[in-house]
Amino acid sequence: MSDKRRYRRATQVAHLGRDPRRFLGAVNTPVFRASTILFRSVAELEQAARGEFPGLSYGLHGLPSVTDLARALAALEGGHAALIVPSGLTATTFPLLALAKPGDHVLVTDAVYGPTRRFCDNHLRRLGVDVGYYDPLLGADIEKVFQPNTTVVFTESPGSLTFEVQDIPAIAAAAHARGARVILDNTWATPLGFRAFDHGVDVSVHAATKYIGGHSDVLLGAVIANADMFAPLWRLWTDMGVAASSDDCFLGLRGLRSLAVRLERHTASAMQIAKWLAARPEVREVLYPPLPGARGHALWSRDFTGASGLLGVVLQPTDAASVARMLDGMRLFGLGWSWGGFESLIIPTWPERARTVTTWNPGGPALRLAIGLEDPQDLIEDLDDGFQRLRG
Ligand SMILES: *Cc1c(COP(=O)(O)O)cnc(C)c1O
Repeated sequence: MSDKRRYRRATQVAHLGRDPRRFLGAVNTPVFRASTILFRSVAELEQAARGEFPGLSYGLHGLPSVTDLARALAALEGGHAALIVPSGLTATTFPLLALAKPGDHVLVTDAVYGPTRRFCDNHLRRLGVDVGYYDPLLGADIEKVFQPNTTVVFTESPGSLTFEVQDIPAIAAAAHARGARVILDNTWATPLGFRAFDHGVDVSVHAATKYIGGHSDVLLGAVIANADMFAPLWRLWTDMGVAASSDDCFLGLRGLRSLAVRLERHTASAMQIAKWLAARPEVREVLYPPLPGARGHALWSRDFTGASGLLGVVLQPTDAASVARMLDGMRLFGLGWSWGGFESLIIPTWPERARTVTTWNPGGPALRLAIGLEDPQDLIEDLDDGFQRLRG
């Protein structure tokens, strides 16, 4: 998209990050399989060696589909620029590695995605960074857990198992007042559902594997930064060589084109199913912030511009064998990690096992549902049969 008009979201995802005139008029930026890039002269090669060559100097540093995906996502979320990395987990861990230095204290939400926590515990600590976890529901009160050496606050909203909505503007204000930076794992909402930079976030990260890819066939991550934070991230990205492949970024761009329309359907179906679940006697609580009356609904309504199809369910107390009977017999819902694809998934979760500074005690077994693009009535019938198996 070349003109500077601020188009609406569905238009942006259709047009951002592609320029057919560069590629024989082809609508989509093609895949480039290239490591070596040839220079025309020694003078050009020397320019590249000094880091001053204006074009691409090596395949590692951004083939066209890679940089087009980065430009599209940065523009969509209102960030300064983006880096594409090979997985969502690289996207969550990479800015922590880039921004925290030995002696710093990093605050991480206690509802954080499990593998991000493992990276903090196993590697940030090894590198001399003090990692502290905090209650995801602390808003402005987060200042009470700040230390003089706190430099980074890692947020994830809603938490991807327990769905707490964080007061990101209040956390960002408290952090900035002390010179600290805020990273947000924004995977659930995508750039369409939460415009992180409008709410004070410095670095927004995405598992593009999920809704942006959208088809359960690609692993990708995006790290989007404001103007202040981009330089150190770019430095580490370049120095570590964490490039994503041109093929994978082609799939990321292909997924992006339908993101707005897919999210509308994911959200509408998830809302219909959330309401159906909330009325079931087997269900104690539905964890879906867009649902009126659900935990986090007020903050979600205040800050978000959209939602997605991932939700939690807390069942009435029952034994593990009954839950397994329910899940083992599902016909449409698959049993597997990840989410954001066209197909529905369901898994049992044990969020209480990971917590270190808060307790999560919902009063029954927890499930997580990723509502796909199937007809929601068929999904409801699958769940209805599942509840019959649960009851035995
Ligand atoms: C899946 C996920 C990630 C990691 O993404 P991968 O591409 O699977 O590495 C990070 N954060 C959240 C919230 C996720 O759900």
